[in-house]
Amino acid sequence: MSPDLIARPDSLLVADLYPSPNIEPRRPGHKPSILILHYTGLPTVERALDVLSRPDCKVSCHYVVDEAGRIIQMVAEEARAWHAGVSSWAGETDVNSASIGIEIQNPGHMLGYPDFPPAQMRAVAALARDIIRRHGIASERVLAHSDVAPGRKIDPGEKFDWAWLAREGVGHWVAPAPIDDEDTGVPLGCHEPKVGQARGLLAGYGYKVDPDGAFDLEMQIVVRAFQLHFRQGRCDGALDRSTLDTLSRLAPHCRKDGAIA
Ligand SMILES: [Zn+2]
Repeated sequence: MSPDLIARPDSLLVADLYPSPNIEPRRPGHKPSILILHYTGLPTVERALDVLSRPDCKVSCHYVVDEAGRIIQMVAEEARAWHAGVSSWAGETDVNSASIGIEIQNPGHMLGYPDFPPAQMRAVAALARDIIRRHGIASERVLAHSDVAPGRKIDPGEKFDWAWLAREGVGHWVAPAPIDDEDTGVPLGCHEPKVGQARGLLAGYGYKVDPDGAFDLEMQIVVRAFQLHFRQGRCDGALDRSTLDTLSRLAPHCRKDGAIA
């Protein structure tokens, strides 16, 4: 049985309802413990609302925030929206059942990737704070789509200001270590201990990566996802000293099973 279309907003910040039929119940035992931020990757908010509500598109999200900061709710928070796709975080592979998704209107990398306007960012921060407070979502579980689907997704991308958002009380942030332009990172196939350390730290934080192995293409993709969120100055997938240092700064927030050096 499908949950009903949304009839009333879950947040006082919602300006409009635009119900999407692309919903189903959350898997039993799952409630929102992750907040995923996306960009729409579509030219206008009207197109985004259309795509996110058409049965043939089979995608949806709980909220859309337009460039002016207008918040539109499409799916009730109690329902499972279809925004994350094939994803994984800290062992959870049904991210849609475990999360709430916010789509931020931005045409994305294929269409010029404009800056996120301040009014839009303020609305995202206010909405995220409200969701986090009501569901008790941990700071380190406020994530980019790229964090939970490395290689497949790059949104909301390197222009999204996670540092500002953290100062606004949303998400976990550590200052990135300075980038050395000369440092191109370890070569593919490298087995040095720091590769194992990085794998342990990434896996400990929640990224889907094997804790053992050399620096390979698969790991490069996960390193790039990490950079898109935490070391935005250069998102090339290179395991350089800045990336490893930044990753180490997250270490106190890693789970117990993360191999923290
Ligand atoms: Zn996305």
